[in-house]
Amino acid sequence: MKTIIEPFRMKVVEPIRLTTRADRERLVADAHFNLFGLHSDDVLIDLLTDSGTGAMSAAQWSAVMRGDESYAGSPSFYRFRDAVQDLMPFRHVIPTHQGRAAEAILFSILGGAGRVIPSNTHFDTTRGNIEATGAEALDLPCAEAADFASVFPFKGNMDIAALDRLLGERGAAVPCVMMTLTNNAGGGQPVSLGNLRAVRALATRHGKPLIIDGCRFAENAWFVKQREPGQQARSVRDIVRETFSLADGMTMSAKKDGLANIGGWLALNDEELALAARNRLILTEGFPTYGGLAGRDLEAIAAGLAEVVDEEYLRYRVRCNEYIGERLLALDVPIVQPVGGHAVFIDARTMLAHIPPLAYPGQALAVALYEVGGVRSCEIGTVMFGRQPDGRELPARFDLVRLAFPRRVYTQSHADYLVEVFAEVAGARTQLRGLRIVEEPRLMRHFTARFARL
Ligand SMILES: *Cc1c(COP(=O)(O)O)cnc(C)c1O
Repeated sequence: MKTIIEPFRMKVVEPIRLTTRADRERLVADAHFNLFGLHSDDVLIDLLTDSGTGAMSAAQWSAVMRGDESYAGSPSFYRFRDAVQDLMPFRHVIPTHQGRAAEAILFSILGGAGRVIPSNTHFDTTRGNIEATGAEALDLPCAEAADFASVFPFKGNMDIAALDRLLGERGAAVPCVMMTLTNNAGGGQPVSLGNLRAVRALATRHGKPLIIDGCRFAENAWFVKQREPGQQARSVRDIVRETFSLADGMTMSAKKDGLANIGGWLALNDEELALAARNRLILTEGFPTYGGLAGRDLEAIAAGLAEVVDEEYLRYRVRCNEYIGERLLALDVPIVQPVGGHAVFIDARTMLAHIPPLAYPGQALAVALYEVGGVRSCEIGTVMFGRQPDGRELPARFDLVRLAFPRRVYTQSHADYLVEVFAEVAGARTQLRGLRIVEEPRLMRHFTARFARL
């Protein structure tokens, strides 16, 4: 069969509250044209993030009931640890309440002034946790990553020559090398096993541990199986195990490929590092057999890890994004290609070429998608990155709008509806107006800034 169906059926449903266009024009104006200010029940299709927004399975909900809330030594912890180690063969598994807590613990040990931590691209919380210690977070993406139209299959890769140069010139300042799988930049672009092996070889040559930010490890492994020569006959599970066997540790947000609504972990091989991390964990999260989580959360993650490497699930997951990407391209809507594992990015600067970057074409498009169809997306551009530390405002490198897809939540008719919303917005694109910011906080302005229409 050519049609790839959602490989699940529904047992519990959550109604979507329908609104009219007039309702939405009022609601978004009341929120000062900032979509973070909307109440989520005023949103029809919420593509703000894929983090913690997925639907859990019947197996996960029944595991929740088995959760044992003992303070120390809960069997839920051991089921969680075994599920992690089944895919990621690290000696020490340390549960945390989210990915960023794992990062905070790791960099409280490895970070510090004068140090530099390279990555293919740091996620924003990773960068924040590194910089909070006084260290430098350095992105070394491959050259293809910057070209939105390039269909290079592994745009998440590390620039190996740049890493080699860094380790040669400033090696003493590098406490570890990081790799983010998939690379969040560009909507979840994958890293090839070949690139990861090359990073491993360089790290070994310079005596540095390699830490993987594994938030979307299953989506990455699926792309490796689809796209990397010689990987087609392997199972996703097998590719996942090789991926992590190349590393010395990992940080994880279970809100992504853990298929859970909350949770994370730090995993390490090194005994001494794990001891320091557990001591820090007790101070900031909790006892090492629950970290920052309830026993029921540990159970949900353990069950989620068994489901996320299911290849029918991954085929459906990635195909949804490809389908939407193909339909948008057919409407002449410019997108970042190829579409990533968890999101589709629209190039709003190109689509709304009549709106200059400092009038926020990404925000204008995101507001229009909400007004026309009740779709909530996220600007990733000059609103997010334009304010400089010295107070000046400059155009960001790009103005994108991200459509991030919650796992197992929306169906093909939701996708078709989304495309129809785009058709209407694209048809009226020249009438869209830019915005100006009337109020903004000093830091992270995109969450709370207030806008007015030009
Ligand atoms: C979400 C995410 C994190 C942080 O995880 P939280 O659970 O949100 O704290 C870190 N890295 C990547 C790549 C992520 O996507």
